[in-house]
Amino acid sequence: MLHSELIDRAEHARYGSSDAARFARGDATRNLGSCHALVLNADYTPLSYYPLSLWPWQTAIKAVFLERVDIVASYEREVHSPSLDMKIPSVIALRQFVRPSEYPAFTRFNLFLRDKFVCQYCGSPDQLTFDHVVPRRLGGRTSWENVATACAPCNMRKGGRTPRQAHMRLFNDPIRPTTWQLQESGRAFPPGYLHESWRDWLYWDVELES
Ligand SMILES: [Zn+2]
Repeated sequence: MLHSELIDRAEHARYGSSDAARFARGDATRNLGSCHALVLNADYTPLSYYPLSLWPWQTAIKAVFLERVDIVASYEREVHSPSLDMKIPSVIALRQFVRPSEYPAFTRFNLFLRDKFVCQYCGSPDQLTFDHVVPRRLGGRTSWENVATACAPCNMRKGGRTPRQAHMRLFNDPIRPTTWQLQESGRAFPPGYLHESWRDWLYWDVELES
């Protein structure tokens, strides 16, 4: 996915827009390829947030038949076979608890999420790129601790210098976030493609806030 698309998505989420209107319309005729199941752990929290734990419908149905998961909610859309008519699961829960990982994957999306989709030098949400705080040519690594979200103009201005050399200050020192910290950031950026049956399992206080 392109950065600009991610940013659009985040912007879209941030500025409200009609998320509700974007939730599944015409569910019964929904494209099979978009029938992903949200996978919950045995404690009914999402197995993973970033990336969100989603399985294609085939995997979800297979897991149902292997009795590895329980169906929590379903799409209106059905699949048919000679022996079976079945609504496609939209939310499933593992029967066996899987211990969540403490640290999220180091991905572009997660890095933007850690930095809340704003330049860490000037606060702009536009033209976001990644800046090596200590430039690569000075031995800077591509890691949580050395990469920060920066807008293109700031990135250009900083060039191949350290923040100190460029007289530019970071809002936050780059850190490796825990899964929990990233989840906290993510709550401000709900993805726009949620099926309505997922919401209850992603944001426990969604009702309280609306
Ligand atoms: Zn900037």
